[in-house]
Amino acid sequence: MTQEEMWRAVIKNDESYDGIFFYSVKSTGIYCRPSCKSKTPKRENVCFFDTAEEARNAGFRPCKRCRSDLMEYHPMKEIAAKAKQLLDSCFDEKRELKQGLRQLGISHRRMSEIFKDEYGITLHEYIKSRRLEEAIRMLIDTDEDIIDIAYAVGFGGPSSFYSFFKSETGMPPLSYRKEHRK
Ligand SMILES: [Zn+2]
Repeated sequence: MTQEEMWRAVIKNDESYDGIFFYSVKSTGIYCRPSCKSKTPKRENVCFFDTAEEARNAGFRPCKRCRSDLMEYHPMKEIAAKAKQLLDSCFDEKRELKQGLRQLGISHRRMSEIFKDEYGITLHEYIKSRRLEEAIRMLIDTDEDIIDIAYAVGFGGPSSFYSFFKSETGMPPLSYRKEHRK
């Protein structure tokens, strides 16, 4: 994350950055969360920290207004890992997935960036790969109908599943099943 990006988050009181970094204000000696509603400080007085602890160690006091001392510590790694867990358990459930991601307290865009930094692929690509994996498993290991597999891995119907599957594997689901079953 660049200083410019962090500064923009401070100006906009962007709460999707809370827990990702903290900023301190030299003139007041306090440190805040990005979302703090106190008056926007002068840029030249602002320093950025990854954690509240670092801000404290640098001699800054927590802000009484945004209670920057009560902010849970959410290193990006942890956030990314939680997102991954969530994708693993609800890749087939759009609504749950959305809700779960929202509960992590980070905007979808931010989450995608953090996820990509950590795992090298986007949330969307990850979900796709989990769906494909599960579809293949069901095609080979079960006798479920294509339509049931489509719903089970989170598609709205067989035709979207069909074109997804074909574009990923080069084969329609049924041919894939025939080809790969012993
Ligand atoms: Zn504050």
